[in-house]
Amino acid sequence: MPDVIDCDRVALLLDDGSRGGNPDGMYRIVASHGYPDDLLAALSPRIFRADEVGTAVEYGLVERAHTANSGLAVVSAPISLAGDTIGFIVASVTRDPDRLAITPRLADRLKGLAAQASIAIRNAQLVDEILFQAVHDTLTGLPNRALILDRTEQMLARARRTYVPVAALFIDLDGFKDVNDSLGHSVGDQLLQAVAARLSATMRESDSIGRLGGDEFVVLVDGTTMDAGPELVAERILEVLHAPFELSGAGPLRLSASIGIAAGTRPSATELLRDADIALYQAKAAGKDCFVVFRPEMHTAVQDRHLLEMDLRVALSCHQYFLNYQPIFDLRSGAAIGVEALLRWRHPERGVVQPDAFIPILEDSGMITDVGRWVLEEACRQGARWNALGYQLDVSVNVSARQLETDQLIEDIRCALDHSGFDARFLIIEITETAIMKNVSEVVPRLSALKAIGVRIAIDDFGTGYSSLAYLQQFPVDTLKIDRSFIATMSDSPESGALVRTLVQLGKSLGLETLAEGIEESEQRSQLEREQCDSGQGYIFARPLEAADVEPFLAGRRATSAPVLAD
Ligand code: C2E
Ligand code: MG
Ligand code: MG
Repeated sequence: MPDVIDCDRVALLLDDGSRGGNPDGMYRIVASHGYPDDLLAALSPRIFRADEVGTAVEYGLVERAHTANSGLAVVSAPISLAGDTIGFIVASVTRDPDRLAITPRLADRLKGLAAQASIAIRNAQLVDEILFQAVHDTLTGLPNRALILDRTEQMLARARRTYVPVAALFIDLDGFKDVNDSLGHSVGDQLLQAVAARLSATMRESDSIGRLGGDEFVVLVDGTTMDAGPELVAERILEVLHAPFELSGAGPLRLSASIGIAAGTRPSATELLRDADIALYQAKAAGKDCFVVFRPEMHTAVQDRHLLEMDLRVALSCHQYFLNYQPIFDLRSGAAIGVEALLRWRHPERGVVQPDAFIPILEDSGMITDVGRWVLEEACRQGARWNALGYQLDVSVNVSARQLETDQLIEDIRCALDHSGFDARFLIIEITETAIMKNVSEVVPRLSALKAIGVRIAIDDFGTGYSSLAYLQQFPVDTLKIDRSFIATMSDSPESGALVRTLVQLGKSLGLETLAEGIEESEQRSQLEREQCDSGQGYIFARPLEAADVEPFLAGRRATSAPVLAD
């Protein structure tokens, strides 16, 4: 620099980083030329206020050099960034007549140099920001997948050297998608930020916390945090996430999470994180709000899902799906009034697979749209046949949230009715509360369009979702199907009984039919009759039947006109 601007001494001072936009900034010497090293060493911890810069730097140094009398001409120029002074360049020449003559030029040159320095620093900052953004999540500021992978590699390398115990914890919020869908993305975003803040406050500074995307977080722990084992860390995380979240635009929100833990070293970061992910999947399957530690045999469960998914891709074209029908009864008269169509998959090796094992895969992969269309066609065809035989049966068909996402569903239902000649008045579409709440503004008009065709709508698994009473009134629905979890416990205590009564009363006050699912015991049945629940289905009446067995079943009931109990 002295060569460029022709001075004898020069120092560069920059914001010492502790003021953060405070105009009473302090500046530290970060580079200098022409000052003796020992002086600089003696001075280096010193930080200067803005008004000291220039004189103080120079004279501070000069005094120490015992050259106070030699005299100097000092020029300084501020370096500014977005209106803030972030530093100074201070240059000086000794007061010998020749040198003094250059000071006016020196001031100009220094200004030019300071301007260049501002640009260079801004560029460096941009590069820093870009580098930071490339490895951090913008919403929470936490390290992203790329940085977490890197830190996992480092942690594993350390573990191999020092034998400290290490673990990766995969954390996934339970029901986050429902919160996002029903309360909006702004609440969802706030929730993710609040979760990130709680995790950061819970863990040690040295533990790495990252967000892998969506509602998936990861925590890497090693050494002392692990003294009590990763299980304790997981318990603590579950506990801190249980406290209600206060977010603007939503009431206090309660949340739980599921955690998968992979402990011990692995050949690579990807393997450790994959194992934590597999354990997380198991924690979800085990009912959520818990943690599961990875065990090698869990690999097979995940592989199994992949195999199922591959097999499902050909199931439709290979005609492996079929429907069972579970009769539905009027609780007052005991007459069979309808059936619910329930999907089954005849797997070439596994035999008949139940829907809980494969419908989630159909939903995740989007295959449910095509399969759902087949279910509608098949159920309507069957319903038309029973109608032709003189059985005036309602046919209920389950429709999943994915199918409600587009107008295609309306078209599919129209086609199924057209192709089969089934009367729309006998078709009931079952939708869960959560599926409606996912996107009320789009789903409600779709349901209204269905009602306009003459199709009825039932809310399935009612009582387990998030729908509020205010919404319920707006929904164009006909029937509430009270979830079987309420029925299963209704005889256990007066409170559980009262809950079912309330749900039935709620239906009545909204002018809706009520249907109780999963009636298994005669005590439940008589209690529901007393509560004046309209209809019911459950093992006490009949299990789901093959299509061919429905007609004989109905004929048998007609003949005896007494309730037929299933095995
Ligand atoms: P869901 O719609 O609530 O169906 C009722 C489930 O309860 C059926 O299980 C039925 O067999 C079972 N169930 C009926 N009575 C009793 C009882 O007394 N006790 C007990 N413990 N269970 C009883 P399934 O057939 O395994 O179906 C499970 C779920 O799969 C259904 O729940 C529904 O959500 C879904 N599903 C079935 N078929 C379809 C379909 O075609 N499309 C879609 N999207 N989902 C379907
Ligand atoms: Mg159903
Ligand atoms: Mg149900």
